[in-house]
Amino acid sequence: MKNQDLVEYLRSCGVCEICQLRYLKARGAEYRNINETLQKLDVKLNENVENEELVISDGIQPSKRARLGVCSTCLGLFSKDFQNELLNSILASDFAKYDCQKIVLAICLPMSLQLRQLAMWFALQRKFGASIDENNPPDVPIKEAVKLILHPIICEKLAKGYDANGLMINIDLTHSLEDEEVQKLVKLNKEAFPAKASHQKRIEISRGLLEKQYQPSKVKAETYEKYFQIPCSNVEESIKLTSIDLQGPLICVAGRYRKLSRELSHTPWILNGQRLMEDSIEEIIIRHVGPHFTEKLGKITFMSSGREDVDVRCLGKGRPFVLEIPNARRTCLTKDEAFAMERAVDASGMVSIHHLQVVPREELTHIKTGEEQKKKFYRALCALHEPVSVKILEQLQISASFNIQQKTPIRVLHRRPLHTRPRTIYSVNARVHRENPKALIIDIVTQAGTYIKELVHGEFGRTTPSLSSIIGKPMDIQALDVVGIDLDWPHEVDNSKQKE
Ligand SMILES: [Zn+2]
Repeated sequence: MKNQDLVEYLRSCGVCEICQLRYLKARGAEYRNINETLQKLDVKLNENVENEELVISDGIQPSKRARLGVCSTCLGLFSKDFQNELLNSILASDFAKYDCQKIVLAICLPMSLQLRQLAMWFALQRKFGASIDENNPPDVPIKEAVKLILHPIICEKLAKGYDANGLMINIDLTHSLEDEEVQKLVKLNKEAFPAKASHQKRIEISRGLLEKQYQPSKVKAETYEKYFQIPCSNVEESIKLTSIDLQGPLICVAGRYRKLSRELSHTPWILNGQRLMEDSIEEIIIRHVGPHFTEKLGKITFMSSGREDVDVRCLGKGRPFVLEIPNARRTCLTKDEAFAMERAVDASGMVSIHHLQVVPREELTHIKTGEEQKKKFYRALCALHEPVSVKILEQLQISASFNIQQKTPIRVLHRRPLHTRPRTIYSVNARVHRENPKALIIDIVTQAGTYIKELVHGEFGRTTPSLSSIIGKPMDIQALDVVGIDLDWPHEVDNSKQKE
């Protein structure tokens, strides 16, 4: 089969030049200069094209123009007219509201295109016989061609880059023949793939089904031809755009927070429909960071590497957190903007954030996994009923790690199942409070997930051993601070320094 013969046959079937190249299996940039590619593939240019264009440009016969212009296999998807319509519709959408540098097109194509692809496949088999494979499509499939042809053109015209994680432009297409052809397809499907009598499962007609089952090796041309023409019929109308829907990318904004208040919950604290605390870390951060990226603050997800109790502060370098912001209008955050957000959060007086930055989505694994392996650093203010003795101080200098068994504390049983968990305590280091001889300041390094309050007082033997059982005396915890989290992420950025 010569390329020249193939192209001449395709031309006679009303196949457009772009689709002719698809049947010549052209790749990437080869679609850019059609004539050059055709010549390279030993195909003579079609002199009639010029005549057709004369008809088009004198504007006398618009109906004829449509008839000549609409390709029987792509239904006009790759025509200049459609490209322009698509481009104008994107520009007329909310596109300008999104400040994204990268885009991706998600095009939902009418099923008619797949039916036409199969009709041409059969037609080529009849015309060229064994040189047409019955398992591999003779063309570059439309879906792939959209990526090769439409994507680069639209990206160039909109001056955006291509990225699968960019602003998603969902494009819905239809064709006037689609309903009618799907009806026929339902009948064809019953005949080509009869349901087994025992369980009459209805087979849903879908694009996936067409892709998988509708090949010459699985459907007979004779069966197909009862419902559809081979080669496919000429069409008068072009494919139509039904809707354009924009979906901004998922943006992740990370940083570290310090919790400065002993009266602030991590997330909104609601019990029996009543708010117990006016504000939360999550809400304060989202309130100041979210609006830059989205109008829908309620869709933002706040995550952190662990959490503190309401009355526990988190000091030191702070705790890593990340906001997941779906359908974001913006993808960038300048140092200026980040610094302004950091200062706004600091002004709450309850939380302070720094190192605020946009991070790649893949980095979220740092916060989501390995939680159990992480070390946590605490400082606890503890009280005895008697002055601290030298012996007690010695008992609370522990540099070798040891294990404890910890039952789920009673205070969290309403939200956590009852289990006994082993936890590792890496070190304990106590000193006497300067102003109170009955008070101890104890630095504790533990495995993440250890309940510190219970580690101190033992909770009636539910945590063993406990610091209280180690010294053999009752001990209370009066205040607790988290002073370090063993996660070196996100990387440090000083947003107050504007030079970059
Ligand atoms: Zn075409």
